[in-house]
Amino acid sequence: EIGATAIGKTFGQFTALADITLTIARGEFLTLLGPSGSGKTTFLMVLSGFEAPTTGRLTLDGRDMTDQPPEARGFGMVFQGYALFPHLTVEENIAFPLKVQRRSPAQIRTRVAEMVEMVGLGGHGHKLPSGLSGGQQQRVALARALAYEPPVLLLDEPFSALDKNLRGQMQDEMRRIHRETGTTFVFVTHDQEEALALSSRIAIFERGRLQQLAPPREVYERPANRFVAEFLGDIN
Ligand code: ATP
Repeated sequence: EIGATAIGKTFGQFTALADITLTIARGEFLTLLGPSGSGKTTFLMVLSGFEAPTTGRLTLDGRDMTDQPPEARGFGMVFQGYALFPHLTVEENIAFPLKVQRRSPAQIRTRVAEMVEMVGLGGHGHKLPSGLSGGQQQRVALARALAYEPPVLLLDEPFSALDKNLRGQMQDEMRRIHRETGTTFVFVTHDQEEALALSSRIAIFERGRLQQLAPPREVYERPANRFVAEFLGDIN
């Protein structure tokens, strides 16, 4: 369980997050929705440990993790700028966390091959990231994070560069992993259909504030305020 209490984040004079308090249950699939600039990515960065909150505390299973560096949290991450290892091939990138987990070579080979196929990169396994398109690199990052099934996965628009078909496949794989492993997902998307299909709860952000946190049905049927109603209505 992840607890956020009164999280605030300012950049100079600018308030990116204000007073965010929420609990993310183990095994939950929480989606962050909101307009551009509303603080979704910043909140994910704070959860990851790459950004320190200006105010507030974070806990993991009741233990304070506010000042823990990202490595100590052990969360899987897929976001812009969280790069692949440039000197490792696609297969080696995906294998890396599995090696850290000391899985057997046979297990690693099987899992890597499975993931390479799943993200549609069959035949590209021996390439370096520099030899791939942006969308292909994004798929490798996603495969790397999904492969080792970390307890918590933080994903920032992981499907933004994928075509519809692959997107559907990746959504299915995420759903399967969620169901089978009890991984906690915190997911940022602009895609409301995706949010509806995948989430156990949706958190709606506006200008750094949490406007509503509820299961998808409730958010759509009983928006907490005018902002939420208009935001959801706008895109539908
Ligand atoms: P999008 O959907 O466009 O990705 P978002 O909801 O993820 O938007 P954030 O990326 O969290 O929004 O940004 C929230 C606000 O904080 C934005 O106005 C952004 O310009 C600002 N911000 C984010 N990071 C920094 C930074 N390092 N320095 C200054 N301002 C920042």
